[in-house]
Amino acid sequence: MARCDQCGNNYDKSFQVISAGETYTFDSFECAIQKLAPTCPHCGVRVVGHGVEQDDIIYCCAHCAEQEGATALRDRA
Ligand SMILES: [Zn+2]
Ligand SMILES: [Zn+2]
Repeated sequence: MARCDQCGNNYDKSFQVISAGETYTFDSFECAIQKLAPTCPHCGVRVVGHGVEQDDIIYCCAHCAEQEGATALRDRA
């Protein structure tokens, strides 16, 4: 049994995530995303996939990065 760091639920199937040397406990991926996933500075969505990164800022896609002035990035799709 371990308590979720995000919502406080005490759940026997909780799991741990290590991020930047910190260990977090969650009862669901939704809670993990809520606490750990970065937010795109342009459109505000949670970056749950790989996203794109420039100058330590993570965007959801190259379009958003470009709108914020990060012109070196390209989606490969
Ligand atoms: Zn939770
Ligand atoms: Zn975005």
